[in-house]
Amino acid sequence: MLPIIAMTVMTQGIILPEDLAKEVDAKRLRSTVEKLASWNDRNTNNSTLTEAANWIADQYREIPGLQVEVMKYKLPKMARVPEEKEVVQVLAVLPGETNTRILVGGHFDTINMVDKEKGLQARAPGANDDGSGTALALELARVMSKRKWRNTLVFVAFSGEEQGLYGSKALAARAVAEKWDIEAVFSNDMVGNSKNKIGQKDDRQVRVFSAEATPGGGEAPPHHSRELARIIEFLTRESVDGFGVKLVFRNDRFGRGGDHTPFMQAGFNAVRFTEVHEEYSRQHTEDDLPGDVDFKYLGNAAKMNLIAMGYLADAGQAPTNVRIDRSQGHDTTVNWHAEPGVRYTVYWRETTSPVWQGNVRLGAVATYTAKKLSKDDYIFAVGAVGGIPVEAK
Ligand SMILES: [Zn+2]
Repeated sequence: MLPIIAMTVMTQGIILPEDLAKEVDAKRLRSTVEKLASWNDRNTNNSTLTEAANWIADQYREIPGLQVEVMKYKLPKMARVPEEKEVVQVLAVLPGETNTRILVGGHFDTINMVDKEKGLQARAPGANDDGSGTALALELARVMSKRKWRNTLVFVAFSGEEQGLYGSKALAARAVAEKWDIEAVFSNDMVGNSKNKIGQKDDRQVRVFSAEATPGGGEAPPHHSRELARIIEFLTRESVDGFGVKLVFRNDRFGRGGDHTPFMQAGFNAVRFTEVHEEYSRQHTEDDLPGDVDFKYLGNAAKMNLIAMGYLADAGQAPTNVRIDRSQGHDTTVNWHAEPGVRYTVYWRETTSPVWQGNVRLGAVATYTAKKLSKDDYIFAVGAVGGIPVEAK
């Protein structure tokens, strides 16, 4: 399926996301994680957080074309915060031709929740949680800044996650206040651990968690996080040898949260990437060390992110008013409102299939008839090539 999309981009003389992904460097990922883990901790309450933030900002500043910001926000006084304080996190923006934004990030703050005696001074290296996601976002910035994209890319190192997602809440609130047009948010949180201590291993998949899409009309604004997850699976399918995404149709691990959640709640399409097998005994302890990170696995997770993000970054505007023709017959006709010059893909899947089973890439048209496919048995959707599809109703 990818070659069809590939041809479009190739004709513009631009390097394809799956080719660019080959430049992801596991050695650079390793040196970033090792540097991050070299601080005693990166607790959001401590000065080590600011030191790490400044180091991360400096790494982003070395990449040509990025606009880097050390963003300040208030962390409220609460259980894991002895006093209200101003803290920092890092944003790096790669401007595109449009103001539509695709965000990718991980949280660089850490916590030790077992060593009560040392409290805030306890060692918390956070190599995997979430040095891995922080390093992934930085590596994507290095590689993706090598070419121009239609949409704007934003790389984020979140803080305040371990106290209650405060950094992502602050950024999501700012995005709403400043009316950011965010198409997708990729949160990478623990993406470097390919096996656990009871012998389970999976170094061939990374999980993608997504909340069910909500059409709006209720109290929460609409989002299409599930459709984002589904197109990530489609865009990355068979793109990295023997490696893929595993869709999990819930917002996050059972009873737990992550930095994508405030964005989803604010009405943005947002998903979480996490390794398949977590090792719970290392999380939030002094034992979350670089030696237990599988950097080849982390590199493949980075490639998945890059390919999906790259296609989303090149996609034109989504179609509107996507409708199924209600007349009865053996074929199904789908119509939509097309934006000038935008090429579209029509997708279909059986009602029981979680993933797109068929697709056809079209030109700048506004209708398609799928021969011998019944609208009773299939769900249809239309998207700009490489973009999040809109289900036909
Ligand atoms: Zn985490």
